[in-house]
Amino acid sequence: MSLEVKNLTKDFKIRSGMKSSNFRAVNDVSFTLEPGKTIALVGESGSGKSTIARMIAKLENPSAGNIVVDGKDSNVHGRALRDYRHNVQMVFQDPFASLNPFHSIAHHIDRPLRLHGKASNAAEAQDQVIELLERVNLKPAGDIAKRRPHELSGGQRQRVAIARALAPGAKYLIADEPVSMLDVSIRLSVLNLLARLQREDNLGVLYITHDLATARHFSDEILVMYKGNIVERGPSDEVILNPQHEYTKLLLGAAPNPANHGKLRDSVRAELAAGLSEDRDQFGTRGL
Ligand code: ADP
Ligand code: MG
Repeated sequence: MSLEVKNLTKDFKIRSGMKSSNFRAVNDVSFTLEPGKTIALVGESGSGKSTIARMIAKLENPSAGNIVVDGKDSNVHGRALRDYRHNVQMVFQDPFASLNPFHSIAHHIDRPLRLHGKASNAAEAQDQVIELLERVNLKPAGDIAKRRPHELSGGQRQRVAIARALAPGAKYLIADEPVSMLDVSIRLSVLNLLARLQREDNLGVLYITHDLATARHFSDEILVMYKGNIVERGPSDEVILNPQHEYTKLLLGAAPNPANHGKLRDSVRAELAAGLSEDRDQFGTRGL
């Protein structure tokens, strides 16, 4: 069981005036994501991270290479594509754009439940919607379910997006900068939530970020991307403490204080021990 990314390449056609040329956004990227593990994909803006996520989520077709999920190739259509989506779900960066302003929160979660055959009637679906909202700490779930996206804070909306991703019973979660648009004060609570859900469901998580500190804390392995290529990879601590590639060193140098990379870790541990961080969003910053 694993999600295998094999020699993935993506070329975009660029047109300027009469000329058209190819731009290689992703070049020959391979990695294997196992259930229960987190891989962090780090790199500056434009390095190709989202293009990889979009190919895994089947929102974009690879120019070369393929993706194999639990032994099945992603190059499928119809019913098989639905099965693929069942297993691989995505959480996007922007919790405003990813939810439909005209639909209730319940509707957003009810739809994948029905589509993927998790609930056969309205009552069953309703119970599961409440259960999922409670799992992502959106309480009182009955009240939240009736609201529309604009009545929630950015953090709460991202929790809805996470609940929606879990609804089909996904085994692999692709989280593309899931907290970068959220208020700084609630980022950790959302990442801690993801970490708990991962443990509970033994999810394989691809955590896309440009934040090396959280990449280190939340991931088993780090892949460093630069201009479409993976330039460095390894166990998280190793990559952060003993970077080999010049670009990784540069990224570490750009972090606010390289000497403090271990600090977040300690502070997160302390928060986890206190059992506070996941709920902070409930009472903390509203709106964004
Ligand atoms: P990241 O997520 O790391 O910021 P992206 O994967 O979004 O990077 O983009 C990688 C590169 O591919 C960028 O230079 C971007 O401009 C380019 N790109 C992404 N999508 C398209 C597209 N649909 N057409 C042309 N170029 C694209
Ligand atoms: Mg991106």
